[in-house]
Amino acid sequence: MTTPADARLPLDADEIRRLGEIDHRHLWHPFTQTAEWREQPPLIIAAGEGPYLIDVEGNRYLDGVSSLWVTLHGHRREEINAAIRDQLDRIAHSTLLGLSHIPAIELAGKLAQLAPLGLTRVFYSDNGSTAVEAAIKIAYQFAQQRAGGAGSRKRRIVSFRQAYHGDTLGAVSVGGIDQFHACYGPLLFPSLKVDSPYCYRCPLDLLHPQCGLACLEELEDLLERQGHTVAALIVEPLVQAAAGMITSPRGYLRRVADLCRQHQVLLIADEVAVGWGRTGTLFAVEQEGVCPDLLALAKGLTGGYLPLAATLAREEIFQGFTGAYAEGRTFFHGHTYTGNPLAARAALAALEIFEKDRTLETLGPKIRRLAQRLEEFRGLEHVGDVRQCGFLAGIELVEDRASRKPYSAGERRGMRVALEARRHGLIIRPLGDVVAIMPPLTLGLSELDRLLEIVHTCIRAVTDA
Ligand code: PMP
Repeated sequence: MTTPADARLPLDADEIRRLGEIDHRHLWHPFTQTAEWREQPPLIIAAGEGPYLIDVEGNRYLDGVSSLWVTLHGHRREEINAAIRDQLDRIAHSTLLGLSHIPAIELAGKLAQLAPLGLTRVFYSDNGSTAVEAAIKIAYQFAQQRAGGAGSRKRRIVSFRQAYHGDTLGAVSVGGIDQFHACYGPLLFPSLKVDSPYCYRCPLDLLHPQCGLACLEELEDLLERQGHTVAALIVEPLVQAAAGMITSPRGYLRRVADLCRQHQVLLIADEVAVGWGRTGTLFAVEQEGVCPDLLALAKGLTGGYLPLAATLAREEIFQGFTGAYAEGRTFFHGHTYTGNPLAARAALAALEIFEKDRTLETLGPKIRRLAQRLEEFRGLEHVGDVRQCGFLAGIELVEDRASRKPYSAGERRGMRVALEARRHGLIIRPLGDVVAIMPPLTLGLSELDRLLEIVHTCIRAVTDA
């Protein structure tokens, strides 16, 4: 019998004040301006239940961004709780360096079975950034080794402007969001960058579909001229999420994959944000029949319970690292908690829920309802664009619809919508002035309606003023 999540709530006022004071004195929050943070007492979460977060006062909020895009099946899933408890009674941690353990083995088998065809090898790490770092280093080393040693000219990585692949320096090197990345320029390795397929603000000023995906010509030219120097290309399939839920037009990913094949460039698919059903299929690449050479997975892998990531590789790539020790083909890379048993058990349980709940089948009607209800936003005076892919959406706010002029960043309209939404019992986190919606896949239709009603009300409240 489980205790209700909020049985011990609310905490008393002195306790809440004490926690808030320690937070303000000692905690450094990510992606947060600390001066602004300290202006108000923090919203402190104490519990969760299904699609709800519950704060220390006992207030319930819909978790509209799945606790940063991870909580697929809702909070406090008994199946995942039980798997972790069971694993605790066996062992909490054991290393994968020179040893193996049961959950890591079982999960690797499961991932290879579920992943796009040919991705047979699983390299674990701890989060999205580390999954990307591993993919980049594997691609680079593989290219060097395949070409017969240090002589290989395939040393460069192609990435997209506005890409986001994480915050470690390798991941930032292939990122392109100036606000986050520009400051670190001198610390980064140079990558070759091409434009993103951002149709609402098309870099070529063309209209889709009449454009015929003309934006791909830049990549075609680049690979034509420099493909022989390129080891890999990294892409966020279907959606550049952190950039503002920028959805790529149908067929774009397929063409990118074909160009990579043509020029013997390894394709790294970063599905950290879009994997695990978010786009309507288990993996986004499936929608365009693409089998990447390397696939980075994290976030929802454990159902939002524990940090765990996996970089999946094709067998040929793995074999490229196989040889006599003296050949120097070993991948000298790995983290202390790589493939942690508790996290791997959580992941196995989260994957079982997909089958048990028929998560993907039940998602169809919700994706359709989301599409229907998003239409109501298109008429709002300050909504410039509404983008959806599967069960995620981005609503781009603009000062002027006709000219697509953005609000000045200092107005923080997106953040103001999110703060207003809290007052209505919804937690969302914007991406600049794009209001992002990424609820748990288990959200019910009526909860989805409520979420969208709140977002609608709050966008109006913040943009009509
Ligand atoms: N890749 C993508 C596509 C992401 O969206 C993110 C995180 N939002 C990352 C990598 C980095 O993941 P993490 O924050 O777990 O390091």
